[in-house]
Amino acid sequence: MPIDFEKITSLAKRRGFFFQGSEIYGGLNGTWDYGPLGVELLKNVKQAWWRAMVQMRDDIVGVDSAILLNPEVWRASGHLENFTDPLVDCKECKMRWRADHLEGDRCPNCGGELTEPRQFNLIFKTFVGPVEGDAAVVYLRPETAQGIFVDFKAIQGMTRKRLPFGIAQQGKSFRNEISPGNSIFRSREFEQMECEYFVRPEQAGEAYRSWVRERYDWYVSLGMKPESLRLREHEQSELSHYSAGTTDVEFLYPWGWGELEGIANRTDFDLRRHSEFSGKDLSYVDETTSEKFYPYVIEPAAGATRATLAFMCDAYDEAVVNGEQRTFLRLHKSLAPYKVAVLPLSKKENLSAVARQVEKSLRPHFMITYDETQSIGKRYARQDEIGTPYCVTVDFDSLEDHAVTIRERDSMAQERVPIEDLVPVLRDKLSD
Ligand code: ATP
Repeated sequence: MPIDFEKITSLAKRRGFFFQGSEIYGGLNGTWDYGPLGVELLKNVKQAWWRAMVQMRDDIVGVDSAILLNPEVWRASGHLENFTDPLVDCKECKMRWRADHLEGDRCPNCGGELTEPRQFNLIFKTFVGPVEGDAAVVYLRPETAQGIFVDFKAIQGMTRKRLPFGIAQQGKSFRNEISPGNSIFRSREFEQMECEYFVRPEQAGEAYRSWVRERYDWYVSLGMKPESLRLREHEQSELSHYSAGTTDVEFLYPWGWGELEGIANRTDFDLRRHSEFSGKDLSYVDETTSEKFYPYVIEPAAGATRATLAFMCDAYDEAVVNGEQRTFLRLHKSLAPYKVAVLPLSKKENLSAVARQVEKSLRPHFMITYDETQSIGKRYARQDEIGTPYCVTVDFDSLEDHAVTIRERDSMAQERVPIEDLVPVLRDKLSD
């Protein structure tokens, strides 16, 4: 049964995962703020991606390019011309819609007649320097990929990487979406995690297929249920202007299937165009054969913020515990905002002192939280709801036996552990 999306967004707001940006001013449509738990979850998603894509591989290196690029970049990439969505207006209520997202040919709001679609460019424009003239126009990047292409030659030179190799980047992107919606699923400011993987042209087909598998497996390795995921290959007519093939990893959101990540065979389009427009030769020379050519590129392009939402939706669960309806976020341990919660059974001073000692000993090792308010049952429930995998309870016996109880979120199993062994025991549990 699909979960009610309202439950996710209200949990997100109540517990500080994400909420409307500029809220006290009535908000700004398509912008979201990530609260104390949201920044942790988002950071952990990005860290898991970086680990899989960069740290664990010898053939991919990272970069962090500027968000503002020379405007020629976007002329060369084709974005100024082609990065558009079809926009329709309702003749009655004047609401605007993305034509390719509509079912039927009437306005979903009032049933009114719609205008013919016209192409709307999604790129945000701004100005550099004090003069608001044409000469000073720059764009907020709508994807992180172009920063990689323009640095391709420099990075290849610095690292002396040979094909096949990749360059990975994470960071903010901006799109003036016609209809942002479904909370952080489609926003106007969001974060992406993209890798451009350069290969010999004849190896592009195989590399494309293997990246599709690899990226699907990454989500599963972080606990996403296989039944929440599917692969969908784009029809010829859907392909972006640079793509010779695209497959989306789709997720079953509460409102239905939708894109989570796209894997595209971008051919040599970008490197060729940047060579042409910049006048700098971005081709590659094979050292052994002396062949000179433009590499093809396979691009796994994921949304960090969209993945954060998908992981939350997939982990959301409800269960009856001791006759009470309870909420769980069964997040993978590596994604959970807090790894451990330290909970003294009571606020009594002698217990607090030991619990604070335990807290102090854990802080350097794990992202933890300390909670001493309300009953222990309520506190377990609060941690379950935000996905904390382990609670450490300090009770009156702890004063005698110098041990504490570790309680696991999903099984609710409890285990007594000497305080002095706590760090290695928790480290072991969190790493399996
Ligand atoms: P859509 O068809 O949903 O508009 P897209 O095909 O244009 O998306 P890509 O250009 O392939 O998206 O971007 C790669 C990834 O970046 C997407 O799979 C998604 O995870 C993320 N992304 C793109 N646009 C947004 C957005 N407006 N808000 C949040 N994430 C986004």
